[in-house]
Amino acid sequence: MLSTARQADVVVIGAGIAGLAAAHHLTSAGLTVTVLEAGSRVGGRMATDTVDGFRLDHGPQLLNMSNPDLRRTPGLQGLRLRPFAPGALVRAGGRGYRVGDTRGARARAVLSAARTPFGDTLDRAGLGTALNRLAATSTARLLARPETTAAAALAARGFAPRLVDGFVRPLLNALLCDPDLTTSSRCADLVLRGFARGGTCLPAAGAATVPQRLAAALPPGTVRLGVRATDVAVNTVATDDRGTGQLPCRAVVVATGARAAGELLPGLRVPAFHPVTIVHHAAPRSPLREPLLVLDADRHGPVSHTLPASELDPSRAPSGRALVTSVLLGPQEDGRPDDIGVRKHLAELYETSTDDWEPLATHHDPEAVPVMAAPHDLRRPVRLLCGLYVCGDHRDTSTVQGALRSGRRAATHLLADFGFRPAATVPPHRIEDAA
Ligand SMILES: Cc1cc2nc3c(=O)[nH]c(=O)nc-3n(C[C@H](O)[C@H](O)[C@H](O)COP(=O)(O)OP(=O)(O)OC[C@H]3O[C@@H](n4cnc5c(N)ncnc54)[C@H](O)[C@@H]3O)c2cc1C
Repeated sequence: MLSTARQADVVVIGAGIAGLAAAHHLTSAGLTVTVLEAGSRVGGRMATDTVDGFRLDHGPQLLNMSNPDLRRTPGLQGLRLRPFAPGALVRAGGRGYRVGDTRGARARAVLSAARTPFGDTLDRAGLGTALNRLAATSTARLLARPETTAAAALAARGFAPRLVDGFVRPLLNALLCDPDLTTSSRCADLVLRGFARGGTCLPAAGAATVPQRLAAALPPGTVRLGVRATDVAVNTVATDDRGTGQLPCRAVVVATGARAAGELLPGLRVPAFHPVTIVHHAAPRSPLREPLLVLDADRHGPVSHTLPASELDPSRAPSGRALVTSVLLGPQEDGRPDDIGVRKHLAELYETSTDDWEPLATHHDPEAVPVMAAPHDLRRPVRLLCGLYVCGDHRDTSTVQGALRSGRRAATHLLADFGFRPAATVPPHRIEDAA
């Protein structure tokens, strides 16, 4: 495999987390790899800007605490995660309720609470039981269920309608970035199971720490920024960079995101996308004293969900100030929501004045999350030919976890094609739950 005529055995196109994960699995097996990245930084959709001491993610990147790929991708050792408090704060019927905390003493407190718009005690006990049962269900059993849309499955699962509208639907809207729940019910079950098993978290210090950590742990010189691949064959990659020109290699992994992959690999299906908008505000103090995800069940305003980001992760705001990050789902005219309307809605959700909140940044991505409509193949093929592979969230689930896993799958196929023995299973490394 190794050849002095080539600069690297494998060229990976795209330094998002899928490409970087694939590069790690390949270099761990002893191959030399060059990662080409068209942009000026690694990470693709996992990006964080620093503005006046605030760390502002381009997407909120809610991670699943039980995500095995965070623990198994070489290079992510020591990644620090900031977990949300269990459950969520739901705004329903004009009031805020703490819902869905199914653990320990808190669960009992929630389940025995007074009557709420979410139904009576039995309804809520039913939710706790259903979430606990889901947490214990194997992937094989989940995937054996009939596949329909998430919305249709919720109606058929026997949850009380008030619980669906008051908690499960807004939670799934947030986790799937899907306002109408057209997502495959199997994908929704997997995402809900992740929530039931371990809850959600954010990476400490911003989403970009995940790809930055991956890139930093690769051999020096592996990643080349500002080089766009323009053409691909199994043994060469053409680029738009004069200095780089054509790169001969033994194999290519296309890890660009769905649309660019469709351009480089004609015939590859390009999915539809869920557009997502993120709005960051600076506040004089955190509107919540607990790191809770806040969901809007009333659907009275533009915000789908919001979080007191610096309460979760104090490194996201300078001392003496707070960061609030909010998410709007669906298309956005001009990519810029009306800030007055957003702050008015946030004032209702947090039950506080937002008059002195200052807009810091807005990021709109019309192609944020590939749609996972039913029937959705959770393990789309990543091997196109011997020597040509494709990975990214569009080959798996449209999540950080799916992107990491697709990178691992592509690397595994490549290694098998070239006669490498599968690398010894990487023992899960420690991830710090920096609560
Ligand atoms: C607003 C938003 C919110 C999100 N929320 C969540 C969430 O809460 N939870 C969750 O799990 N996921 C979330 N996601 C999805 C998650 O970010 C993605 O699934 C994941 O980052 C995809 O990684 P990737 O490596 O597959 O693709 P990308 O991150 O898109 O990386 C592809 C890379 O390839 C590069 N590239 C493209 N074309 C070329 C070329 N020709 N040559 C060289 N390089 C090229 C790009 O510049 C990019 O860096 C969200 C995404 C967005 C945008």
